[in-house]
Amino acid sequence: MDEYSGRYRLMCPGPVNVSQRVMDAMTGSEIGHRESEFSALLKNIRRNCLKVMNLPEASFAMVVITGSGSAANEAVICSAIRPEETVLSLVTGEFGRRLGEISAIYNPKTVVHAQDWGTPLDIAWVEDYLASHHVDWITMVHDETSTGELQPVKEVGAICKKYGVKLFVDAVSSFMVDPLDLAECNITFMSTSSGKALGMSPGLSLVVGRKDAFEALRQYPVRNYYLSLARHYDFFTQKLQTPNTPAIALFIALNEALNMIAEEGVVQRLQFQALKAERFRRGIQTMGLSLLHADHVLSNAVSTVVLPDGVRFADLRESLRARNFIVYGGKGPLADKIFQVSTMGHVGIEDVDALLSALRDILSEQQHSVA
Ligand SMILES: *Cc1c(COP(=O)(O)O)cnc(C)c1O
Repeated sequence: MDEYSGRYRLMCPGPVNVSQRVMDAMTGSEIGHRESEFSALLKNIRRNCLKVMNLPEASFAMVVITGSGSAANEAVICSAIRPEETVLSLVTGEFGRRLGEISAIYNPKTVVHAQDWGTPLDIAWVEDYLASHHVDWITMVHDETSTGELQPVKEVGAICKKYGVKLFVDAVSSFMVDPLDLAECNITFMSTSSGKALGMSPGLSLVVGRKDAFEALRQYPVRNYYLSLARHYDFFTQKLQTPNTPAIALFIALNEALNMIAEEGVVQRLQFQALKAERFRRGIQTMGLSLLHADHVLSNAVSTVVLPDGVRFADLRESLRARNFIVYGGKGPLADKIFQVSTMGHVGIEDVDALLSALRDILSEQQHSVA
């Protein structure tokens, strides 16, 4: 451990800072996963999770998987989509690309529709494609974290409904930052993870979906034992347990994180997340920096800032690290063109202001135009 004792302000799109209350929960007790205590925990997690999503327990279900967000994505793709089904994978950035990559492993009939990163999804193309081709599933991301742009899930959901196509949405970075209504958007399954806007440590992922779709999994071939959604669902519904030994401490923390959101209220939570993102973005623009595609539909999970001329991301990153801030650079075509800041998790207004002031100092030190 270095001189900062490992205490960083994680203002990157995951992992995020965790509140003391959730930290205390994580280290506060030891229970066994085949005991009634664990079942009570799972029951509470389900109740709170569906409650904050405004979904009835009668028609929606969920599972929690030990593994980061990608585990939930792979679990859905390998379990819910049968090998003979056709998948249309919509890609406008890195995380959409990964969904297509996972799908291609399990499903030979995967068609990837890839656009330039950050271009708004061509809805008319999607509609034309479904009108003229047989498609069983669409996979897409809600907040495409690599660009910070929200994807038109509602519009795609409406087209899916029209053509009888099932929809899987990766909401890993948007859950509890940007509103998403599963029922309204006609979503069959949705994934998210503990280590982003839930304000918890990474290591757990969640799949939420229609109960009839979970029930149907029992008839499908198991193509990945550990990530079988059917096994997770069976254990959850029949025993209130997980099939294998879960990361128990993380489940305790997840329960507490959801308790906190239920107490705070979802509307309030989303408003505060929006407030922090707006404050950061205003500050950036006041400084003379610009957001990537400021006129597009942006997620409140992450802000993507164009690197000023002459500033290398590696230098900016090191200067921010020296002040205890962690931010990310761009992936793929955005490498060394942008940097990304997230205000998700246990981050207050004072952290947003502190980061803005650090950025101002660093950039003026490097003698780059600060208005
Ligand atoms: C973070 C993230 C994931 C999951 O990535 P992991 O490396 O498994 O944590 C998936 N999708 C999106 C949109 C994400 O932001």
